[in-house]
Amino acid sequence: MKALLKADAAPGLRLEEVPEPRIGADDVLIRVLRTGICGTDLHIASWDHWAQSHVRPPLVVGHEFVGEIVEVGSAVSELEAGDLVSGEGHLVCGRCRNCMAGRRVLCANTRSVGVNRDGAFAEYVALPAGNVWRHDPGVDLDVAAIFDPFGNAVHTALAYRVLGEDVIITGAGPIGIMAALVCRHAGARHVVVSDLSPYRLELARSLGATLAVPAGPGALERAMTELGMKEGFDVGLEMSGAPSALTAMIASMAHGGRIALLGLPSDEFGVDWSHVVTNMLTIRGIYGREMFETWYWMSTLVRSGLDIRPVITHRFAADDFEKGFETVHSAECGKVVLEWAEPS
Ligand code: NAD
Ligand code: ZN
Repeated sequence: MKALLKADAAPGLRLEEVPEPRIGADDVLIRVLRTGICGTDLHIASWDHWAQSHVRPPLVVGHEFVGEIVEVGSAVSELEAGDLVSGEGHLVCGRCRNCMAGRRVLCANTRSVGVNRDGAFAEYVALPAGNVWRHDPGVDLDVAAIFDPFGNAVHTALAYRVLGEDVIITGAGPIGIMAALVCRHAGARHVVVSDLSPYRLELARSLGATLAVPAGPGALERAMTELGMKEGFDVGLEMSGAPSALTAMIASMAHGGRIALLGLPSDEFGVDWSHVVTNMLTIRGIYGREMFETWYWMSTLVRSGLDIRPVITHRFAADDFEKGFETVHSAECGKVVLEWAEPS
């Protein structure tokens, strides 16, 4: 089969012929239709420090996908050929304390599709049946392809109650913008988004952020003044990984404000902890998606009218993957989708 391969420990990816994956008794084989490009895929392509310490080539990359099941293992009973599915990309160990207690999102030993084992940028991907999410009939294929990052957005946006609250989202990447859509859908009052990129601020604005402001000194305070807010933001969603974004967020929270961190900073940095303490802020890290409550919520949000299609700004054939990767790298985009095959 055709697959996008990190062939050796050096920069670059190659579209190559590799053997089709074989499935075990508990697995399913999926024919890939569409995939989404994630920042992680760019790290692996450029072979940066993070990739060098996490990836052992050769590896088929990619973890955001939708496809059709073509084969099920002998022990699989709930899924069948023809089902339209996506995959939870975190494989849990099943044996650690959290897994044993059913808290799979907190597994201490997760392995990631497209990082620690072969991924989905290929004609076929194999996955344990327990990691498969079957889509509702009629779901848009491109939307289904990005359930993985949509899940990051939903997991973070619904970490706290947002109904009637004022929300600040730092970072208008695809995940930040989807989180803004979720917060509006879930009944937040003001949803303010900050970013450095004019393209992304415009996208956030056009999709319904109350305000989209260029990040910088005093930006969040000016936004609050413009909206007539007096006591600060109730909920903060950090989705940039930028230290200055978290610093600005902490300074603009209401007393008792709640912050969820999804963005991954590349280095350690200082925080005004006495402000966190005296204002009694809650700060919580978010990783991945809850298995499978987040997936359930994604499906019900889509069914209840949440439309994330406008977040997808570019589509390329899989053969043109280089253009897709360049587009993500340029950041003049929302979500970028690669097309592998049409549904049968
Ligand atoms: P992205 O890189 O496309 O978006 C990040 C955005 O933040 C960019 O638009 C950038 O311009 C903006 N930004 C940079 N500095 C800023 C600042 N000071 N203030 C405001 N915005 C600023 O990333 P994405 O795919 O949307 O993902 C968002 C973040 O979440 C990334 O840090 C990613 O690594 C992380 N992530 C975490 C998980 C998890 O499980 N915790 C999963 C997926 C992604
Ligand atoms: Zn575990």
